[in-house]
Amino acid sequence: MTAPVLVCSRHPSRPAFARCQACGVVVCQECATPVSGIMNCPACLARRTEAAPARRFPWRLLPLTLALLLSCWLIVRLAPWAVGLVVGWFR
Ligand SMILES: [Zn+2]
Ligand SMILES: [Zn+2]
Repeated sequence: MTAPVLVCSRHPSRPAFARCQACGVVVCQECATPVSGIMNCPACLARRTEAAPARRFPWRLLPLTLALLLSCWLIVRLAPWAVGLVVGWFR
C-alpha cells in the first residue's frame, strides 16, 4: 500500500507546496500565492481580485446622497422663510 503523494491540483507532475487556506485545494509553489499571510490557489486569488473593486465607493448611490444633502440644505434654508410666510398670513 502506497501513501498518496500530494500533487498540485493544476499540475499533476508537480509536488504539493501548500494548501489553499480558502478552499483547501493543494497547490504547487508556483500556484500558491500568499495574500496578506494567507495562501491562495489561482481560483481563490482570481475571486479575491474580482471581489476587491466592489468594496470601493458605491458610485451608484452618489446621486441619491447628493439629492438627500440638497433637500436637507433646502429645508434648512427655506424653513425660516416658510415660517415667516405662514406667520405673515395670520397676522
Ligand atoms: Zn482556493
Ligand atoms: Zn501548480
